[in-house]
Amino acid sequence: MQIGQWAEAPLLAALIFVPLERLWPWRRQQVLRQGWTADLAYVSVNGLFVWLGISAVLVAATAAQRFAVPAGMTAFVSKQPLWLQTIAALMVGDFCLYWAHRALHRNSVLWRFHAIHHAIEELDWAAAYHSHPIDVLILKGAAAGSVVALGFSPVAIGIYMTIYGWVSLVVHSNVRVTAGPLRWLVSSSAFHRWHHSNEPEARDRNFAAIVSLWDFMFRTAFLPAGRMPRIYGIDAGMSLAYADQLLNPFRMHRRASGVESPNMDRIAKPAT
Ligand SMILES: [Zn+2]
Ligand SMILES: [Zn+2]
Repeated sequence: MQIGQWAEAPLLAALIFVPLERLWPWRRQQVLRQGWTADLAYVSVNGLFVWLGISAVLVAATAAQRFAVPAGMTAFVSKQPLWLQTIAALMVGDFCLYWAHRALHRNSVLWRFHAIHHAIEELDWAAAYHSHPIDVLILKGAAAGSVVALGFSPVAIGIYMTIYGWVSLVVHSNVRVTAGPLRWLVSSSAFHRWHHSNEPEARDRNFAAIVSLWDFMFRTAFLPAGRMPRIYGIDAGMSLAYADQLLNPFRMHRRASGVESPNMDRIAKPAT
């Protein structure tokens, strides 16, 4: 299965988001931010790593569907109309992703991988690609693995993954998107910007990718009215080179790795 392959076509994404970020930006930024060559590597190299890993997750999920999930449940799921399966797959997949994302923040070893994504200090559409392959594997594995294991139709899963890919681009983009009165239900770039903020009150908040309801339900939502984050990133520095970022989580010494867990007494950056 090509998980969100089309949705993540970077050239198409660039054609859509570069003009939109000029027209309705949250703030003025350069088209190519610092370290954009690493983004290029993430786009071209990450795909292979992630494809290999996701294939293994899907094989395991298919086995789980056969041997661990009650046959009555998968039969019930597969009998539902496509529209209902798509909505249910999106809700279930995003619910599992929410908890996987919390684990990436909570566990200091997992945080080493996820910190690569959080080190970005200027958010834009390309930030959606800027993640360590193991980080992507955990999040996509939770989202896709859960819905495969429960027996949703491949078409419903394909639609959900395509929506996930596009929403990821939107929420990372520097395009002014809010969910208005539906902010308690649906994610937006305003919502995810707070997730990337390095301001103390916003840390470890807004984990959902699509359904912000999970954050409101589990009291991890942070979306103050009338203001936006001033600073993004993590306290520790991060090399801009792709190879360094790829190897960073495996370096044993915390100081040398330049990565700190959000639960390790991070010191707030001075507001600038
Ligand atoms: Zn995160
Ligand atoms: Zn993000």
